[in-house]
Amino acid sequence: MSCLFCKIANGEIESKLVYADDDVVAFHDIAPQAPTHILCIPRRHISTLNDLDEADAQLSGKLLLTARRLAKELGFAEDGYRVVMNCNGHGGQTVFHIHLHLLGGRALHWPPG
Ligand code: 5GP
Ligand code: ZN
Repeated sequence: MSCLFCKIANGEIESKLVYADDDVVAFHDIAPQAPTHILCIPRRHISTLNDLDEADAQLSGKLLLTARRLAKELGFAEDGYRVVMNCNGHGGQTVFHIHLHLLGGRALHWPPG
């Protein structure tokens, strides 16, 4: 498997790991867009949000709950933060292994560009 995030998940490529369990891995984004910018990914390769199915409901929930927990642990839950998942070209997806961006530590603008 030549997928970058599969390689990060299995340790073939180094990352600044924040959390890992049997299903989910979280690590710092290499080009942070906020003081804290973490990516939460499933270990299992899923290319885009379009490829999720009903059987992945628990896994998707786990990604979200991981982001929520990390926001709390890192101390910006009360100030606020953003969780984003980009899908395909118009969504701005560049790595085709689904990932949830967790951005915190500054006030973020809305709407996005
Ligand atoms: P996307 O644009 O697909 O939603 O987000 C991909 C994210 O992956 C980008 O924010 C980008 O900075 C990050 N990224 C790309 N390559 C690497 C890498 O090798 N290591 C880490 N930690 N993040 C990466
Ligand atoms: Zn992958």
